[in-house]
Amino acid sequence: MEEYDVVIIGAGPSGCFAGIFSSERGKKVAIIDKNSQICKKLLLTGKGKCNLTNMNEMNDEYLSKYKNGKFLINVFHQFSNKDLFEFFENNGLKLKIDTGKRVFPESEKAEDVVKTIRKVINRNKVKIFLKEKVIDIEKLKDGFKIITDKRIFKCAKVVISTGGKSFPETGSEGDGFVFAKKFGYKIIEPVPALCGIEIKENFIKNWQGITLRNVKVIAYLGDKKIGEEFGEFLFTHYGVSGPAILNLSGDISENYKNGEIKLIINFKPALNEKILDKRLQREIKENQNKILKNLFKNLLPSGLINQFLKISGVEEEKRANQITKQERKILIKNLLSFPITVKKPRPFYDSMVTRGGVCIDEINPKTMESKIVNGLYFAGEVIDVDGKTGGYNLQMCFSTGYVAGMNT
Ligand SMILES: Cc1cc2nc3c(=O)[nH]c(=O)nc-3n(C[C@H](O)[C@H](O)[C@H](O)COP(=O)(O)OP(=O)(O)OC[C@H]3O[C@@H](n4cnc5c(N)ncnc54)[C@H](O)[C@@H]3O)c2cc1C
Repeated sequence: MEEYDVVIIGAGPSGCFAGIFSSERGKKVAIIDKNSQICKKLLLTGKGKCNLTNMNEMNDEYLSKYKNGKFLINVFHQFSNKDLFEFFENNGLKLKIDTGKRVFPESEKAEDVVKTIRKVINRNKVKIFLKEKVIDIEKLKDGFKIITDKRIFKCAKVVISTGGKSFPETGSEGDGFVFAKKFGYKIIEPVPALCGIEIKENFIKNWQGITLRNVKVIAYLGDKKIGEEFGEFLFTHYGVSGPAILNLSGDISENYKNGEIKLIINFKPALNEKILDKRLQREIKENQNKILKNLFKNLLPSGLINQFLKISGVEEEKRANQITKQERKILIKNLLSFPITVKKPRPFYDSMVTRGGVCIDEINPKTMESKIVNGLYFAGEVIDVDGKTGGYNLQMCFSTGYVAGMNT
């Protein structure tokens, strides 16, 4: 039997940080992971460049980037984005701040982030057990028994940092939810987040590959608005994606089984109905003999125009001066609020994070210790907290890992 002060299940960013900061306080620490390397998922982040945090000020707006952001107030107070930045730079990894205050390694290689973490883990003499899967956790009178497919560990404290269910080939298959459930925890149903959305309307396939830069999208469940995003938007073979959709996807995943969700696309969010009408009238006046599909080249990407006009019921070969007032009204309405219908979110294997997980009411946010079982801690994506794109998820993982490590 292997004996440790602290055993950490999962060597993702949250588990590694828990291990680093627990060992820094003199604890004998083991981290177990079923993969053959640490931080397998982290290597894929930010398209291989790793957007490891976001340097925006950690105020209410920052917290609003997360589901259950308030849970993180104390966590970020203990370990902020600045602390994370310093941690990496002090350990020899040069970082750069990019657009939207997103932070990347200067080398733009996620591998360098992992190398730095591995270096500190080795320096702190944290024992890593790879290719080893935890099967069960048992509570003993004086600690825990951790049963793996290779051996049994005994420890005083245990951290569950097994991630969510997204990209399961990286090892996060939802095991932590099973362990937590066994101890009586409430698990908020895990659903895919930061993922694309499949759309019911077939014509969407014709728009595959078209990207729109400044689009506003509002999601409605019946009459109820469930989310709104502004930004880049992409049509795909299955429906829609891009940052604006990724950031709406968690809310859509939580709600799509409760009724029909419509996404209302505003192609021209900088203009209101009146201004857009004036602009269209002016263009018609200046280009009286132009056919409509050519006139629209100033308003929409070429690939969208034919289908857009067809759906609006306006003949694409019509000349500008033949458009009726009624047709102009429909075109304006569709430019400002074009509806499409949600079929379903992409599955877990195609979603970057998991929404849902161990209920925050059952975790002490000052320590990450369970309120149900003494000595049991949680860190990272296994908790029911998830963020938008831009480095928010990794910051949450590093910070909750730090807090768990400092308190085990
Ligand atoms: C393609 C992609 C791109 C992303 N890009 C970004 C980005 O740029 N910025 C950002 O902030 N976030 C990004 N994310 C999200 C971020 O990677 C995750 O939120 C983060 O990795 C979660 O960290 P974690 O430590 O909680 O869990 P994970 O990184 O999932 O690690 C959990 C570990 O636990 C291990 N494990 C699970 N069960 C067991 C068991 N029973 N026994 C042993 N080991 C076990 C797994 O093998 C795994 O290694 C991205 C995600 C993906 C998929």
